[in-house]
Amino acid sequence: MCGIVGAVGKVKNFPKFILEGLASLDYRGYDSAGASFLKENHEFACYKVVGTVDDLKKIVPNKIDALSSIGHTRWATHGHPSINNAHPIASMNGLFNIVHNGVIENYRSLKKKLYEKSYTIKGETDTEIVANVLEYIYLKNPHSVLVAIERLMKILKGSYALAILFKDEPTKLYFAKKDSPLILAESENASFLASDPLPLIKYSQKFIDVEDGEYGYLTKNEIRLFINGKEVEKRYTERNIEFLNKDLGGYSDYMLKEIEETPQVISRLLIKYFDGHNFIFDENLLKELRNAEHVTFLACGTSYHAAIVGERYFRLLGKRSDTYIASEWAYEPIFSNNNQIFILISQSGETADLIKCQKIINNRGMVNIAITNTIASTLDREATFTLYLEAGLEVAVASTKAFSAQVTLLALLVSSLFNNTSVIESLHSLNNVLLSIINRKEEIEDIANEIYKFNLIFFIGRGSDYIAAKEASLKMKEITYIHSEAFPGGELKHGPIALVDNKTALFAFDSDTKTDLAIRNNAKEVETRRGHIYIISIKELYKDGDAFNVNFVSPNLSVIPMVYVSQYLAYYVAKKKKVNIDKPRNLAKSVTVE
Ligand code: GLU
Repeated sequence: MCGIVGAVGKVKNFPKFILEGLASLDYRGYDSAGASFLKENHEFACYKVVGTVDDLKKIVPNKIDALSSIGHTRWATHGHPSINNAHPIASMNGLFNIVHNGVIENYRSLKKKLYEKSYTIKGETDTEIVANVLEYIYLKNPHSVLVAIERLMKILKGSYALAILFKDEPTKLYFAKKDSPLILAESENASFLASDPLPLIKYSQKFIDVEDGEYGYLTKNEIRLFINGKEVEKRYTERNIEFLNKDLGGYSDYMLKEIEETPQVISRLLIKYFDGHNFIFDENLLKELRNAEHVTFLACGTSYHAAIVGERYFRLLGKRSDTYIASEWAYEPIFSNNNQIFILISQSGETADLIKCQKIINNRGMVNIAITNTIASTLDREATFTLYLEAGLEVAVASTKAFSAQVTLLALLVSSLFNNTSVIESLHSLNNVLLSIINRKEEIEDIANEIYKFNLIFFIGRGSDYIAAKEASLKMKEITYIHSEAFPGGELKHGPIALVDNKTALFAFDSDTKTDLAIRNNAKEVETRRGHIYIISIKELYKDGDAFNVNFVSPNLSVIPMVYVSQYLAYYVAKKKKVNIDKPRNLAKSVTVE
């Protein structure tokens, strides 16, 4: 989480670079924002607000004659959002200004030591401890900031991408990285860093992904990287710039835009992974999957729900398959004796919980396939194989098009294992179904206008409809703040039904002939207890009184249209409640802390 950005050298307009850069990163956190400019006279000009980059814009002057600068947009982990806790954070004697993405696990013991050395600490962040430990180390032996950073890194436990300004060297921008993303770039007479490529694409097309344990500095015409005191070579990676478009394209918010981009994304995946006759997947990847006796999925949040769909696909093939929430598996890794392969799913490719799992898997030398939307992300770089989602930038915090892309890609992958090309036809007709839902979105808005005042919203389903229910419920709570839960239809009567009253809405997904009657009975049980029921069915199962229906798609893909309806539903409820749809409270897009 947290977005960091920095520049040094001949930057035309430092405030503009920092503010635009932060604005492009603000999906990573929006609890506070700040920027620090280091001038030729060795003075810092530091500006901070509790709130968003838009608020910061109001207090940063249009022009500042600086030689270097850093900026930060925060998703608070330690210390509530306040000016003292907002980054950039200054060390006690004012030698350093730093910005940080990550969490310092041993900050408490370090803080104690700083108190013993008579340091005063103003705020509650772990980052302030880093700034002061660095200053303390430097002042003990004040000849090289680089050496002080190297020592600092030996002391710090946890994750960090740090950008550091040192008062006495305004022409240098220092950095250090472990377990949080950091990217460098250079252009004529200036060098830059950021948490992801977005703020930098205007200035460079080539990036350096800093690796764990690396640190160094940038000047206007050089980038130097070190690890354990030794200089390392720069390695450049390229990004697909056209996919980094952040234009709203006439929409009022990114979430709606991204929901409606889904059919395009599915078409792109069809082109990328099928040439008209054959699937186009790496043969070695397919070989590994065919030979695997056990496929384990790891993911978090929405990607976790796509992973459960993937697990189901493999089980239908007769392969042993399971799914774990990454943050759980990371602390209790489960390996089987069978030939096991891992599929790791993350939109951003930087999800800290998942990266932790990937390290464990890689340490055992096991094969892992990354499914991600982000080329050259950590997950991509460390995976044995990567499959890209081709979804384009997803800006809204609530993931929508990436979910459909993940499921589509998994359907293509599994079908390619036994060359089942019928999935292609099914995906084409799925796209038509999605387009018809777009055309009927006002009907979903009408439902949203009925339910937005409810206290509790249940989603139920059976089989793949239950997976859709889980994702629908997550979307609803994420952006509307209405308490929502998902259950397999049959489970309601084993406890949750006790919560039902006349302020409860229940959505039942009904896309499967086998479970049609059962799920309708489950909904009826809630209606009998004065809950309000809304059945979302497929046309073939439609009955009078159903709230919405969608055209039939292949049963293995029906999760996509069901979730699609629920994305609109959550969107319209949030709109009716007049909350910030793209930046829901307490959340951030790229979850780079554990
Ligand atoms: N731990 C730091 C803070 O709370 C950085 C948080 C982050 O990277 O999300 O300010």
